[in-house]
Amino acid sequence: MSMGPLWCVVPAAGRGTRVGGQLPKQYLPLAGRPLMLHTLERLAAHQQIAGLMVVLGGRDEHWPAIGQLEGKPVLTTVGGAERCDSVLAGLRALPAEVTDDAFVLVHDAARPCVRQADIARLIELAVPAGGGLLGAPLRDTLKRADDGGRSQATEPRDHRWRAFTPQLFRRGELSAALLAASVTGVTVSDEAMAMEHAGFAPLLVEGAEDNIKVTTAADFALAEFLLPRTL
Ligand code: C5P
Repeated sequence: MSMGPLWCVVPAAGRGTRVGGQLPKQYLPLAGRPLMLHTLERLAAHQQIAGLMVVLGGRDEHWPAIGQLEGKPVLTTVGGAERCDSVLAGLRALPAEVTDDAFVLVHDAARPCVRQADIARLIELAVPAGGGLLGAPLRDTLKRADDGGRSQATEPRDHRWRAFTPQLFRRGELSAALLAASVTGVTVSDEAMAMEHAGFAPLLVEGAEDNIKVTTAADFALAEFLLPRTL
């Protein structure tokens, strides 16, 4: 299937409270520059990405007013209370040239180590499948804890995957699925979950496990180590 360049929605409206401190996580320095800048540069450098729609928090005073990266447009809009609200806002704010049938990527601002080859592989495999996401099969044994932190049971590991981003879906179908989830009061933790609720079966595309979501202070050190090694 031939594929033109795609837009990428980048949710960056989280408060990042798990790291601690005043500055939102996405602006904390990673190898001397804001975490989110690494992510945006990596996405803009990908030849199959046409432009970026960055979804910012309502009171974001830190956005450096970047209008383009690597010669590609960088637009912004304001997000919502949950990640899914932010993604929906980003989809709505995409330029009109992005038709309802067009595929779009969604990638967390907090995942700066995504590999170019994995983005390309996702596009290559998930477009003909009608949509999909990067992830990795679970390799550890999975325990269910009780309230006291004791292991109650061992969950089956077969067919269990961890979900990463980017995720790739058609603009119209993803918007409708996120809206339906919001109307029915289902809080979806990723785009694929909204699509599952809408009756789709997103393709799981195995990607590198070093595509980590920088969440805690310790993750910054790990991401700094990984950045030059995941180019
Ligand atoms: O909080 P978490 O790490 O799961 O967030 C994943 C991504 O979603 C981050 O890039 C964060 O900025 C974004 N987000 C958002 N709007 C929210 C919550 C999270 O754009 N309301």
